[in-house]
Order: sequence, then structure tokens, then C-alpha cells
Amino acid sequence: MIDAHVHIGREHGRESPRERIRGILEDYVTHGVHAVRDGGDVLRLGLVARDLAPEFGLIYKTPVYALVKAGGYGGFLGQQCSGLEDIRAELKGLMGLRPDFVKVIQSGIVSFDEDGVISPGGFNHEELNYIVQYAHDAGLPVMVHCNGMAAVAEAVALGVDSVEHGYFISRTELEAMHEQGTLWTPTFAPLANYLRSGTAAPGSREVVDRTLKAHAANLLAAIAIGVRVAVGSDAGAAFVAHGQGVHDEVACFVRAGVSPQDALRLANESGARAISPMAS
Ligand SMILES: [Zn+2]
Repeated sequence: MIDAHVHIGREHGRESPRERIRGILEDYVTHGVHAVRDGGDVLRLGLVARDLAPEFGLIYKTPVYALVKAGGYGGFLGQQCSGLEDIRAELKGLMGLRPDFVKVIQSGIVSFDEDGVISPGGFNHEELNYIVQYAHDAGLPVMVHCNGMAAVAEAVALGVDSVEHGYFISRTELEAMHEQGTLWTPTFAPLANYLRSGTAAPGSREVVDRTLKAHAANLLAAIAIGVRVAVGSDAGAAFVAHGQGVHDEVACFVRAGVSPQDALRLANESGARAISPMAS
């Protein structure tokens, strides 16, 4: 199986990062995962994981760190930049670290307390366009963290290769993804596992439950339309364990109404597309 969305750098304890990451990679292998697509972190631990992965027979793809709009959501996932000059310098430096793709944080995250609310974050049109062109010129796909109709529509129109999360979108954005051949990684597990943890306050429970139901309806619509959907757990986020995460995400697909066979097929086939260089 392939987990198409993890954050290796978000779990680190007192041990040295190398030993901690060895443990995490072992967790993937024992859970039947043979390939992982990392979403980046500020500590750049994806470099360590990519270096160690062959010891475990794992394919490990990393953007090293994400590009984050200064002042917006996602500082712990990568490098904050503001303005085209800054982005250009950042991309130039990043290329020296041989990223497997470029990761962009193009919106905030969904609220667990209020319906349909997304925290601020993301680049402007010109900046995102610059990043996508730069990455594609370098032969690298662009993986974009993105929620909300406007942000997803814009990212898809600018030719990003994958939309991550994609909460609060409509049939219009799904059809655009299908037309453009954009891959979608819906990442149900952080919200679903939060609900199942029993730690959610009553008001929050209902908000997250409604958010997941709308997301499940979009998943079924996406599959019916023919959007390529990848299975990514967001492991490393709260409530999502490395290795187990992709199984949790498959279970979310099945609860949404996808057959177990189809969910597993997506975990392998679309996941393979997620980790392949410049699929389109
Ligand atoms: Zn993520």
C-alpha cells in the first residue's frame, strides 16, 4: 500500500531524529506500506527519512519542506516566504536539496468548531503561478494543501498536480480536477480519528461530523466523475499514527460508501501516481 500524505517531521521525541525516524519507517513496513509521500516539515526530516528508507525497502518521496505564505497557516510545515523575490530565492535554495516535488500551503485548515470556516493562509495568484511554473520547469510536480472552493479552483486552474485535503468544495471544483487530471487526496483520517477519539467537545463533534459527511459525498461524486483519488492519511497529525493511518483512511473511504476493493485499489494505483515524477 501507499500512504500518499504523511508528515514525518511532526513526531519527534527525545531520541535522535535518525533513531526516531527508523522507528517510524519500521511502523510503515509492519503495516504493509511500501511507499510514502511526505508533505514536508520545518525540521526538514524528510531528508533523513529519504536517506534511511532504502534500509527498509521503502520508497520515500519528500518535498523536504513546504512553501508557506508568511503570516498564514503552516509555519511548522516549512519555510515562510513573502513576495516573488523571496519565493524565487527560496525555490533556488530548495532545489539544492533535491526535492521530489514542490509542496505549497495554499490555504488554512478547517475549523473543528465552526461550520465551513477555514483559517487564513496561501499565496496570491501571481505567486502561486510563479511557484507552479518554476516547479514544472524543473520537472517537479506540485502538491498543494488547499481547502475551500475559491482556493481549490484557483490552484487547479494554475495546473497544480495534486490537491490535498480539499474540504468544502463543490462539484464544480471536482469537474475541474477531472478535466485537468489533478489528483485529489481527501485526508479524512485526522477528522475521523478525532471524532472516534472521544475527546471532541459536543459542539465540535457535530461540526466535524457534518464536515466529514459533506466530504464523503464529495468523495463519491469525485469517483463517479472520474477524478483520480489518492489515499493519504496525514499521519503525524494529531490522532493519526504512522503505518496505521493509511488503514484508517481506507476505512474512512469504505464508511463513505466506496467498496473495500475500490478503496484498496485507490491506495495502490492512485497512490502510485502520487509518488511518480511529473505524472501529467
Ligand atoms: Zn498534511
